[in-house]
Amino acid sequence: MSWDFETEPEFQKELDWIEQFVREEVEPLDHVLANPYDVRDAARNALVRPLQAEVKRRKLWACHLGPELGGQGYGQVKLALMNEILGRSRFAPTVFGCQAPDSGNAEILAHYGTPEQKRRFLQPLLDNEIVSCFSMTEPQGGADPKVFTTRAELRGDYWVINGEKWFSSNAHLSSFLIVMAVTDPEAKAYERMSMFIVPTDTPGVRILKNLAVGMHEGEGTHGYVRYEDATVPRDAMLGPRGGAFVVAQTRLGGGRVHHAMRTIGQVRKAFDMMCERVLSRRTQGTLLADKQMVQEKIADSWCEIEQFRLLVLRTAWRIDKYKDYRKVRKDISAVKALMPKVFHDVAARALHLHGSLGATTEMPFVEQVIQSFHMGLADGPTEVHKVTVARQVLRDYRATSDLFPTEHLPKLREAALRKYADRIEREVRAQS
Ligand SMILES: Cc1cc2nc3c(=O)[nH]c(=O)nc-3n(C[C@H](O)[C@H](O)[C@H](O)COP(=O)(O)OP(=O)(O)OC[C@H]3O[C@@H](n4cnc5c(N)ncnc54)[C@H](O)[C@@H]3O)c2cc1C
Repeated sequence: MSWDFETEPEFQKELDWIEQFVREEVEPLDHVLANPYDVRDAARNALVRPLQAEVKRRKLWACHLGPELGGQGYGQVKLALMNEILGRSRFAPTVFGCQAPDSGNAEILAHYGTPEQKRRFLQPLLDNEIVSCFSMTEPQGGADPKVFTTRAELRGDYWVINGEKWFSSNAHLSSFLIVMAVTDPEAKAYERMSMFIVPTDTPGVRILKNLAVGMHEGEGTHGYVRYEDATVPRDAMLGPRGGAFVVAQTRLGGGRVHHAMRTIGQVRKAFDMMCERVLSRRTQGTLLADKQMVQEKIADSWCEIEQFRLLVLRTAWRIDKYKDYRKVRKDISAVKALMPKVFHDVAARALHLHGSLGATTEMPFVEQVIQSFHMGLADGPTEVHKVTVARQVLRDYRATSDLFPTEHLPKLREAALRKYADRIEREVRAQS
């Protein structure tokens, strides 16, 4: 028997340290600093750099990476438990060296990068001296990469890139973009595109605008980028020619689990606020907590969080066990599909139970509800992940050629009678 729901005491000590550090030192940054990714912001650097140094001293920096890259090579269960705490704060992933999309971009650079690419881009990225951007989605369609048209053509020793990308998050702050572009239009659908590392200051890389989502005022952080004869050397390709899909998958597997656990951290925060509020607020002579319809909201939220958390942890455990993402595709997609719903439902209940205050910008709930919609889109819409779950599930089933289902009751009764008729008859005879 190897089922276990406990954390080893040694690692629990680390988690306790992380929890206290995040609450006391990191969460306050969310209220005084603008953008965790803005490595050019002096105030950000003055406050964030010493905290990053402390995390490094504690040997908790970039724990998703192997020791050769300065991490701890933690398995997914440990990473999941850590990320659950980091999810409480916007700045925490940056302080712990595991912020998306840099963490995923670092993973593919580590996996597919040439020694020169690693020297130039990976090391400064790992040190958070620079930030990066993953430039994949196009304005005419994101959920279906087969419709992408951004083209990279080989001219002499250079790749020349033309096309438009959309929602390239942090493009304006980045030092380089990882761009997915069509290199082999005649090849099979999943072998037509390759990945490129494009320094953001390359002539021909134009950020047309930065889109903002939800309640954000002013310029946002999601770049609408046009590549106009953006020219990079031949060796700017990342991974094999035609291998963009394989490279992209390397990036998304573990990241989705970390993201899910960070979401649980946020959902818990909303849940804690909801519980505090209903125990503090009276209406019509009783506490909100005494009203059954309020209790239902608390109970539903608790059950949904616990169910989801267990699914995410089991998925992390399966990744560690099989060490093969193909064997856990269904689990990862299930986590990705459930995540926005749990977040949305709990945040919406928390908003509602806070009454008018909950709907204001003085509380985080409206922002959280909008964020739940980001989660249902970024890294692929929920529907696409549900399709993956269903397809994977159905692989374990077979059709019946019979007119009636295998579990059709008359058929089962008939088979059972055939199996036991003699014994039943003997029993009846013996009793008569
Ligand atoms: C906050 C945020 C950050 C992002 N950051 C990045 C980034 O850094 N880099 C990047 O490249 N992209 C990024 N994206 C883009 C994201 O990956 C796309 O939004 C996503 O892939 C969906 O593409 P789309 O927006 O074009 O929607 P569409 O492809 O137009 O899909 C719209 C809707 O159609 C439905 N739909 C689509 N496909 C199916 C299907 N197969 N079955 C049933 N229904 C379907 C779904 O309801 C879906 O939401 C980000 C998005 C958000 C919201």
